[in-house]
Amino acid sequence: MPELPEVETIKSQLNRRLKGGKIKKIEIFLPKIIRLEAKFFINKTVGAKIKKVWRRAKMIIIDLDNGYSLLIHLKLTGRLILCHRLREDYQKHTHLVFHFFDKSVLIFQDIRQFGYFDLYRTENLKGFFQEKKLGPEPLKKSFTLKKFTELLSKKPDKKIKPLLMEQNFIAGIGNIYAQEICWSAKISPLRLAKTLNKKEIQEIYRHLLMILKKAVKQGGTTAADEGYIDARGNKGKYGSQLKVYQREGEKCFRCKGIIERIVLTGRGTAYCPRCQK
Ligand SMILES: [Zn+2]
Repeated sequence: MPELPEVETIKSQLNRRLKGGKIKKIEIFLPKIIRLEAKFFINKTVGAKIKKVWRRAKMIIIDLDNGYSLLIHLKLTGRLILCHRLREDYQKHTHLVFHFFDKSVLIFQDIRQFGYFDLYRTENLKGFFQEKKLGPEPLKKSFTLKKFTELLSKKPDKKIKPLLMEQNFIAGIGNIYAQEICWSAKISPLRLAKTLNKKEIQEIYRHLLMILKKAVKQGGTTAADEGYIDARGNKGKYGSQLKVYQREGEKCFRCKGIIERIVLTGRGTAYCPRCQK
């Protein structure tokens, strides 16, 4: 699933390319991906100009100039692709196409079909996000070590790796980066929050920020088993930097121990039992 760095990459590309663009036409090939009546959706979006594209957690929000905002969740396999014109090879798994007045198009594809589009009044979005009880954005300045320590103290009995993935704890981290953060910080994914000392919390915090920032810079991760591509059709370059994700049975880059795979809250988790304590 695209996580913060991947969604952030797509968001920036969309914002650069679509800001100021006016929607001419929308084609919907798979109505179920829109969470409201298609007619209403088209009514409120066609003819509107795009004010800006932004991100909250793993969601992309497109603010329109008519007081409405589109909310897009890519879920497991959703892709948003920008093209100068509609290409034939992009028609497979294409469920929705935005046509702009400058002839460019924005295509939504989704093999697994869990991704969705929704529409909100822009003024109601804040309330919607509050209702969802989303955790803080880790790349915002307000996400300090103090804040992170406070959050951890409220979840003493949770294991650190699944906790990092909880959207109500911190927004945007998923299965890939949670594993990478634990490895980098030399912390076992099984550690309970209450057992972490000050130094360990500091290390997790430091590596969390470092990894997310680096991954954003490199356009996210396209792992071996995932078809992530950005809005320009490029793969994420952080894949080559992964230290534990999907490396079970291989040697640890740090201590040469063997990477093991365990299942934590239903998700495969790779780590090095020798150097992650
Ligand atoms: Zn190791």
